[in-house]
Amino acid sequence: PTFPAREPKSLVDESWELVDPNPDPRALFVQFNKLYFWGRLEAVEVKWSFRMTLCAGVCRYEGKGGMCSICLSEPLLKLRPRKDLIEIYHSFHNEVDLYRQHWWRCNGPCQHRKPYYGYVKRAMNRAPSAKDYWWSEHQRTCGGTYIKVKE
Ligand code: ADP
Ligand code: ZN
Repeated sequence: PTFPAREPKSLVDESWELVDPNPDPRALFVQFNKLYFWGRLEAVEVKWSFRMTLCAGVCRYEGKGGMCSICLSEPLLKLRPRKDLIEIYHSFHNEVDLYRQHWWRCNGPCQHRKPYYGYVKRAMNRAPSAKDYWWSEHQRTCGGTYIKVKE
């Protein structure tokens, strides 16, 4: 007998929720690195944070060597479906935005520019400053001043 070729299962196929409800993100990362990034993300570490609750996942760029660290919120993700861990970027905008109650807006030309239109929205009352990795680029390309517009 001949069998129809099986379609490869989507990464977020519902059946995974039962087969593997709590995947190890490190193992997934190794797999995705091979599958989608030609193994180029070897310098990236993935770890759980047990106290991060305002954000499901963050990525820190650690210097010039390409070292990068991805930190996933254990408290936010453990109660959610597997799908949410896999699709972090897309799944949490609403929740995360809800927590970003401190807003600043630049009074310079970047107000009219994509993608941020001058806005910086944060969960913490931490005004944009030279500590932000993008500060110098903003100084160079806009030069405006950030003013608190919402808290
Ligand atoms: P968070 O504020 O959530 O910690 P980041 O510090 O990584 O996030 O900064 C992201 C925010 O900073 C963006 O949403 C945007 O508001 C602002 N931002 C990032 N890069 C630039 C840039 N080049 N010019 C102006 N604003 C930027
Ligand atoms: Zn600006």
